[in-house]
Amino acid sequence: MAYTPMIQQYLAIKEQHQDAFLFFRLGDFYEMFFEDALKASQLLEITLTARDGGDQGKIPMCGVPYHAVQGYIDRLVGKGHKIAICEQVEDAKLAKGMVKREVVQVISQGTLMERGGLNEKENNYLAAVVEHASQQYGLAYCDLSTGEMAMTYFAADSQKLIDELSTINAKEVIMASDTDEALLEQLRLQLNVMISHNDALNCAKSHASLLSQTINEVEHQAVSRLLNYLDDTQKRDLTHLQPANHYELNLFMKIDFYSKRNLEITDSIRGKGRQGTLLWLLDETQTAMGGRMLKQWLDRPLIERSQIERRQDNVAALMTYFFERQELAQALKQVYDLERLSGRVAYGNVNARDLVQLRQSLQQIPAIKELLESMTDANLKTLGQRLNPVTELRTLLEEAVVDTPPIALKEGGMIRNGYNADLDVYQDAMHNGKSWLAALETQEREATGIKNLKIGYNRVFGYYIEITRSHLANVPEDRYERKQTLSNAERFITPELKEKERIILEAEEKSLALEYSLFLELREAVKAYIEPLQTLAKAISEIDVLQSFASVSESQQFTRPIFSNNREMNIVNGRHPVVEKVLGHQSYVANDCVMHNDRQLLLITGPNMSGKSTYMRQIALIAILAQVGCQVPATEAELPLFDQVFTRIGAADDLISGQSTFMVEMLEANNAIQNATPDSLILFDEIGRGTATYDGMALAQSMIEYIDENVHAKTLFSTHYHELTALSDTLEHLFNVHVTAVEEDGKVVFLHKIEEGPADQSYGIHVARLAHLPDALIERAGHILEQLEQKEQVIIQAPLERKTAPLPTVAVKEVVKEEQQPQQTLEEQQLSFFEEPVKQPAPSK
Ligand code: ADP
Repeated sequence: MAYTPMIQQYLAIKEQHQDAFLFFRLGDFYEMFFEDALKASQLLEITLTARDGGDQGKIPMCGVPYHAVQGYIDRLVGKGHKIAICEQVEDAKLAKGMVKREVVQVISQGTLMERGGLNEKENNYLAAVVEHASQQYGLAYCDLSTGEMAMTYFAADSQKLIDELSTINAKEVIMASDTDEALLEQLRLQLNVMISHNDALNCAKSHASLLSQTINEVEHQAVSRLLNYLDDTQKRDLTHLQPANHYELNLFMKIDFYSKRNLEITDSIRGKGRQGTLLWLLDETQTAMGGRMLKQWLDRPLIERSQIERRQDNVAALMTYFFERQELAQALKQVYDLERLSGRVAYGNVNARDLVQLRQSLQQIPAIKELLESMTDANLKTLGQRLNPVTELRTLLEEAVVDTPPIALKEGGMIRNGYNADLDVYQDAMHNGKSWLAALETQEREATGIKNLKIGYNRVFGYYIEITRSHLANVPEDRYERKQTLSNAERFITPELKEKERIILEAEEKSLALEYSLFLELREAVKAYIEPLQTLAKAISEIDVLQSFASVSESQQFTRPIFSNNREMNIVNGRHPVVEKVLGHQSYVANDCVMHNDRQLLLITGPNMSGKSTYMRQIALIAILAQVGCQVPATEAELPLFDQVFTRIGAADDLISGQSTFMVEMLEANNAIQNATPDSLILFDEIGRGTATYDGMALAQSMIEYIDENVHAKTLFSTHYHELTALSDTLEHLFNVHVTAVEEDGKVVFLHKIEEGPADQSYGIHVARLAHLPDALIERAGHILEQLEQKEQVIIQAPLERKTAPLPTVAVKEVVKEEQQPQQTLEEQQLSFFEEPVKQPAPSK
């Protein structure tokens, strides 16, 4: 079975890239063969053809033209595929035998560089993980398009790893080839995992500077794995990569993946992307870089008070400069994506238009700097002073590049007059040659008396004089040489014309070549400025996010929160900022929230749709907004600094992971209970709803008791088990609040107002009356309710006697039946549910 030499070459290369579509360069096309061709022709809707493969006969083939390849790459990568670009690496004319070909780049979601596939307001992270012998995970990630790189390490806990990878929204994760299958499976549920082809834990010496900030071997190995992957797949200049920046997870507020989703911080639950999220509300950034930084900030709220207050100070100061802020926003709007532009400069794929964008951006910097420096606020002044406008580069670009260059690099028209003397000479010659031709045309018209005589150009004959058939009699045969006959005209040349043509074409050729090489030189020159450009980009991003916070805080009537030293929360007129934005400020009912060390748990009751869950979310969002440094939707707010936020809020998509809703609910509850500290915030919305009434109620009660006794986190617990409200009699730190509803003109109106005390339990019966159910029925319902209310006193268990020895496990329902003699404490119920004794919570910090 002999394939043709070319197909053999193809197969040998494909062997190395089995997980990718191999784009095999053949002249002006990238071709795909065999399985790749079958799949790609469908995915890209291109024609499937066949090619002679040798003894085997025809083999499937499809191809895309090289000049249009980017669109096809974006489409395949967008669908999660990987592409290996295989180029001819020697000149076909000089090759002996088969032209040498090599894979020059592997492109996948984690290594996108081109605009088409990238979301401008979001980072595109590629991550690498190592499992270190010390039972720790090392994590490194980078955004190849911006050059940013970060690293951390933590105890080998797979959930932590997944939370962190989803926090950064890693597009791809590189894992060692001997990674445990169970871990891979877990990761694959949420992430795009790639197995590393190179398990080496060191990387090329040339990368030493990128590793300069690693603080231990774990990080060193993680960054090495990442860099090895980039070396293997990119094979080009990565000078824009910045040294990996060490960060520590516990310097940020922890919010697990589900809580982030539930609170709709950066992604909506209903799959509408950013619409309706906190990010959507806050994003008044003017630059793509600022947009990305805003998302980074929201992904990682701070816990270090001084850091938060620094942001707060800047926001507050910016809010006092109304007009300057408008000007600032205007100037920022004209700053392009300096970070990604720098990345493409290093990568070698910028065109002259990119350089114009760079120049226009740099031209805005002096104004931004001046604006900030003119402010009396010392912090803002410093922000301005820190801006380095990279004037040298700006001047260079102003002198070198024309106003509106073309995208193509080899067709000229990029370099400005006066930048290079040789180029000016060629361009003069071209220009003069062309005026000379125009003059010649006039002159020949007069000499021959042929009014429509014209001078034209084509690739085959060069410049010619064209004369229509009716005037052929007037052609000066002695001077004109016939070159080409068309149906209604003839074309001639003269020695003079040919001489000028030589000069013009030579000048043109030289000019194009020179422009191209000047452009390459210029691109190299810009490379030298990548570092200051990246620093500038960071500073601009920060200013942009701060002005966005200021602008939103002003338009949404936010207020600057203060932080309590004593874990006190006192929110006056708090609002859910997103719901408020949708409903309008007038229609939103603001609510207070008071919690402190003696009031740690709030049990929220109230009818369905009255606003319980909105209230709980608003508390979490206010805490998060405060800790990213933004102002908060309230008229006054004093807040604890929370270390973690846990939520258990029912979401429609619980089923995606294949777990039952109730199991997910219990897992999330467990996560909160086991990991929360007295500095944490827990939101439990209708816990226990997913199982039989008493079963659920028993669990809910035991959780509340457990949190009260062992966890001491600030906890908001909404429930429709009215029975639980009796717990306030026994649990000192638990308080009842409820959401009010009233009857108005025969309709139930939810006031959405939170008030002290438990909800009125006969609310359902009110509604039934409004619906005109028969009076007798309503009366009977009232009677039953009364009986149930008496019974409830018994259902709720007395506070636990925690020291007693465990009794045999009995189902809660049976306990209720034999209500006179409860056999088992609820804590034991809980123990039997978790199978193993619940671990003691982590010691508080
Ligand atoms: P529950 O959790 O009690 O079932 P939700 O919190 O889901 O109720 O609220 C139901 C709806 O009521 C929300 O979608 C919102 O439109 C409205 N709502 C909730 N709280 C308020 C409020 N404070 N002011 C105005 N409307 C509110």
